Amino acid sequence: MALDTAHSAFTLDRPADACAPRARTAEPVTPPFTFTPALKRELAPLYERVKHVVTPMEWVHYAPLVKAINELKVKRNAVILAHNYMTPEIFHCVGDFRGDSLQLAKEASRTDADVIVQAGVHFMAETSKLLSPDKTVLIPDPLAGCSLAASITPEDVRALRAAYPGVPIVTYVNTSAAVKAECDITCTSSNAVKIVESLGAPRVLLIPDEYLAKYVQTKTKVEIIAWKGHCEVHERFTGEEMEAMRAAEPGLKIIAHPECPPDVIAASDFTGSTAAMIDWVKTKRPPKVVLVTECSMASNVAAEAPDVEFIRPCNLCPHMKRISLEKIYEALLYNRYEVTVDAGVAEKARRAVERMVEASA
Ligand code: SF4
Repeated sequence: MALDTAHSAFTLDRPADACAPRARTAEPVTPPFTFTPALKRELAPLYERVKHVVTPMEWVHYAPLVKAINELKVKRNAVILAHNYMTPEIFHCVGDFRGDSLQLAKEASRTDADVIVQAGVHFMAETSKLLSPDKTVLIPDPLAGCSLAASITPEDVRALRAAYPGVPIVTYVNTSAAVKAECDITCTSSNAVKIVESLGAPRVLLIPDEYLAKYVQTKTKVEIIAWKGHCEVHERFTGEEMEAMRAAEPGLKIIAHPECPPDVIAASDFTGSTAAMIDWVKTKRPPKVVLVTECSMASNVAAEAPDVEFIRPCNLCPHMKRISLEKIYEALLYNRYEVTVDAGVAEKARRAVERMVEASA
């Protein structure tokens, strides 16, 4: 069935950082450690994990922070949830749990830590808070937003509900808690098809990512109604770019995230969530691959698959890249920036997230 574009009346006109500003970030501080021969020896096992993607010169800067953070985690009974788009020194050296949004959301609901530090963007920290309301959830930089989350408001969802009475609303997890509270259930890129079909409805609104909605439409008979939100990282890739890379690199495998435009997905050998992309590379071990997604993920997978050559058309997420070792250290040291969600919003949003966790168990 064709994608229903009747939603175009709701076309967006919002500033790119509409979801972000909540507080100003402070200047970084220096941790109370320096790089010594003893520290080099102590952290050698950690460096071994990232030596293919972190230079010795970079490690001189990172190692003292890694040690300081890992000590503070113990002191504060804290865990760090590291998204796949974090840089390798965060992902591999201080992250306790690593993965995509769904994997991190599940870990947030299971952990018995007192403090959760979300090495990711703000909507992810809100999701952790929803699933762990009694824990302290910190985001190292409160300006770490997301263009998808900024593309839709609770008022927009209420307008969609009025325009499509009786049609269930599935929201991608890349939305604010206030938007989730207006929806029936959440989904991630790894479970979107399953969640849409679990509702047993002939038509479903799938918001806010238009390209994910179009991709899901190719996988299900349920009629999908989309919104016009886009990820500013994935929407920049083009089908022509993929064809040019394939021509220049014989034998190249192209692996694309479903937030990419349809022509990119059509040009790819495999499409899946970040977790599925990682599994594909680790299982298939192609000699040469391009991961069409945020470019830190290729570095993180490359650290574990040195036999695979990664071609990197580098699109960085400016929001994810706000998170650094310095800011994680400061978050743990100063207990900042705490993420809170209004109790009424949290109750409704939590129900939407828990429905997804149950449906995808
Ligand atoms: S990569 Fe895209 S979807 Fe993910 S946080 Fe950045 S802007 Fe949002």
